[in-house]
Amino acid sequence: MRLILDVDGVVCNFVQGMIEFADEVGDPIPDTCCWKDVDTYHFFGGWDNALWKQIANDSYFWMNLKRMPRVRHTMITNGIWPDMYLTARPVGSHITGQWIQKEMLPVAGVITVDRPEDKMEHLRPGDVFVDDHPKTVRMAQEMGVKAILMRAPFHRGVDAAELEGLAAISCLSEIVSLINNQH
Ligand SMILES: [Mg+2]
Repeated sequence: MRLILDVDGVVCNFVQGMIEFADEVGDPIPDTCCWKDVDTYHFFGGWDNALWKQIANDSYFWMNLKRMPRVRHTMITNGIWPDMYLTARPVGSHITGQWIQKEMLPVAGVITVDRPEDKMEHLRPGDVFVDDHPKTVRMAQEMGVKAILMRAPFHRGVDAAELEGLAAISCLSEIVSLINNQH
């Protein structure tokens, strides 16, 4: 069994970083102070958005993102050591790898794909895979991956049908029994 983790929304608080970046460049996201205020993952308009274009190749932005709350402590104390990080960020794997080292998270190889659906090419049936994007989790589940949704505040704005039937956790500590039962 391999353990594969998405990066943003699982170990890295991308949404908070984006909110702070938008504020810094004078284009704040309305009614949004904190990542928990965000109701949808479409909060900043997707790939064509001007903010997205500004951060896409900005290694300073990606290197200075914060960890998800308590994630390092949770991973270290529970022995959660991924075999791979799998992300669809626009920056290269080396930036994500450096960030993981800087944040003193468990180190593993990073694979970066162009689109979330491309993650499927790197997953195998039986893998345990944690991601915060419901459509990605469902795609992985349908190909026999033990895919688990990391719950996020922005799931409030997601169609209930998109979440229905997905295994979900609120904290990585909840996958410990799943990992231990399979080794
Ligand atoms: Mg993610």
